[in-house]
This record gives sequence, C-alpha cells and structure tokens, in this order.
Amino acid sequence: MADEIAKAQSAQPGGDTIFGKIIRKEIPAKIVYEDDQCIAFHDVAPQAPTHILVVPIKPITQISKAVDGDKELLGHLMIVAKKCAEQAGLTQGYRLVINEGPDGGQSVYHLHIHVMGGRQLGWPPG
Ligand code: AMP
Repeated sequence: MADEIAKAQSAQPGGDTIFGKIIRKEIPAKIVYEDDQCIAFHDVAPQAPTHILVVPIKPITQISKAVDGDKELLGHLMIVAKKCAEQAGLTQGYRLVINEGPDGGQSVYHLHIHVMGGRQLGWPPG
C-alpha cells in the first residue's frame, strides 16, 4: 500500500494539523503566496515537478464540511491556485485536486487544493 494511502486511511478529522502550524509559522514551509485568507506553499513530498498546496487560514477540515458561507473563500482559493500555477510557469497545463476523506486519499484534515504540473499527468488518477 502506498505510504500516502496508508496515512489517509489512518488520518482522523479534527484538531490542529501540520498546516495550522505552517499558517502560524511554527514550522517552516516554502511559501509562494500569502494573504489574509490563505497561504500557498510547496508540498514536502512532491508528486510532480511543481506541487503546491493552497490552504485557507480558516480551518475547514475538508471540502465536505464547507458551508454556503464559504462560497467566496472557495472561489478565492481557486483563483489563488491558478495564480500559483501561472507563477510556477505551468504554461502547458496543470491539475487542481482536492482529496476528500479516506477513499479520496486525504491525509491532512485542513482543506487544501493541490496544484500539480510540470509533467504529463495520467488519467484516471489511481
Ligand atoms: P492530502 O493527502 O490530500 O491530505 O494531502 C496532504 C499533503 O500534505 C500531502 O501531499 C503531503 O505530502 C503534504 N504535507 C504533509 N506535511 C507537509 C509539510 N510539513 N509541508 C508541506 N506539505 C506537507
């Protein structure tokens, strides 16, 4: 079983996460974008030449817990994700991914969008 899948199956929603620590600058990250609503940084275990995570400051655990009032924030995250892709020079395309729950392979329970590119990505994903 792939390491990330094992992590996803044992990950528990709730409580603080590693991303909370990055937001509070308690642990380092390679930050590429930051504003009052979100932060974006390089994934520590990249699955593509460019692999950036866009994370809201608001600790929404996962996309299934987002509410109607999060609509504007979710739109903002998408815009930031595409700006990160542009900034990374992903002119040939890229993929935005949100993993949800154990079957979706979510291992960190703080909502995030993966921005992945820099190589031909396969479809369907595993
Ligand atoms: P997911 O499996 O969709 O929940 O994605 C979590 C992602 O967070 C994985 O791609 C991990 O490699 C990444 N990750 C975990 N810890 C860190 C960290 N300290 N800094 C950057 N990325 C991290």
